[in-house]
Amino acid sequence: MIRLACPEIDEADLAAMVEVLKSGQLVQGTHVREFEGRVAELCGSTRAVAVSSGTAALHLALGALDVGAGDAVAVTTYSWPATANVIALCNATPVFVEIDPRSYNMDPEALAATLRRARSVKAVIPVHAFGGMANMAEIAPLAERHGVPVVEDAACALGALLKGRPAGSWGTMGCFSFHPRKAVTTGEGGVIVTDRDDTLVKLRALRNHGQDPGAPGPDFILPGYNYRLTDFQGALGVTQLRKLPSVLARRKGIAAAYDQMLRGLPLLAPTALEPASHTFQSYVVQLSPDLATARDRILELLRRADVEANIGTHHLPLTTYWRKALGCRPGDYPATDQVAAGALALPIHSRMTDEDVSMVARALERAIESVTESANPPA
Ligand SMILES: *Cc1c(COP(=O)(O)O)cnc(C)c1O
Repeated sequence: MIRLACPEIDEADLAAMVEVLKSGQLVQGTHVREFEGRVAELCGSTRAVAVSSGTAALHLALGALDVGAGDAVAVTTYSWPATANVIALCNATPVFVEIDPRSYNMDPEALAATLRRARSVKAVIPVHAFGGMANMAEIAPLAERHGVPVVEDAACALGALLKGRPAGSWGTMGCFSFHPRKAVTTGEGGVIVTDRDDTLVKLRALRNHGQDPGAPGPDFILPGYNYRLTDFQGALGVTQLRKLPSVLARRKGIAAAYDQMLRGLPLLAPTALEPASHTFQSYVVQLSPDLATARDRILELLRRADVEANIGTHHLPLTTYWRKALGCRPGDYPATDQVAAGALALPIHSRMTDEDVSMVARALERAIESVTESANPPA
């Protein structure tokens, strides 16, 4: 089976973790601090706060902005559920913002309309879908004009650059995930980057039971969580980050090979604003509308050809929770309806060989032929 994703763990990673485990100092310590320093440096930010997951990063980012009951948060429609769940976990309400169907990312014009219309928008969460950066050059100044802070869900976009500026550094805060589905991993893990000292203090307190990070002895200034990262995961993060450039280069190469091989098929390849602005955490094509109805069958045919593929990500307003909570229905976000129906994620990871890439492309071509023939049987 050619897997959709596969973490890249080697002997150096294992050795770094074993050393920390043997030391007996297991919770957040010097290795977490080193990991934070490396991520901050990579993002051109002054500060980074490591936490237990990408979801914890998003949750703390909203907490640091005092998002709470009665607040609205503008958020993209097409993402992993965590992006909107954290809004509800803060007792606030999402205002979903339509995507651009070509980039799968928040449409700046739709955001402009939302900010003009909606009241009490306390934050904006754009997502860099599948590692491809949203149009931050438009979204960041637009939010600023309305006085609304931006929290980037950059879970999949570590190492991406737009106009030379790193993903995660455009907003007030940028949130990353180190889940094994991402380019580099700490098992579970997340990081928030920021340049603001006041935000930093709140993030650190919220991460650690509300403990005042600046006090000489234990004192507690707010009700916080325990969202700390372990120190052996911090050590793993440091060795993993060394691999980031080579892992991203390989992903880019695979994406370019797919672009070539899939040319001529009835689908749209993924796009990027600039060559450097996509990390290809996932390679997601868009089947033509007539093929979209056969997507489940295509996924099944790929599975039988030993290729693991999936639907990309989720149409959040149409998940059961948000349908019920907000009364969302098909037709409310037509671009998202279209994308969510026709999206198909193909395997992409640094352990794939060139042969694997060709095999996936051939399997997809055959699967499309097969569903097209059964729809139009030869006379
Ligand atoms: C992976 C991911 C998350 C959640 O990260 P975890 O580390 O799994 O909690 C949030 N948003 C997006 C867009 C993601 O891809």
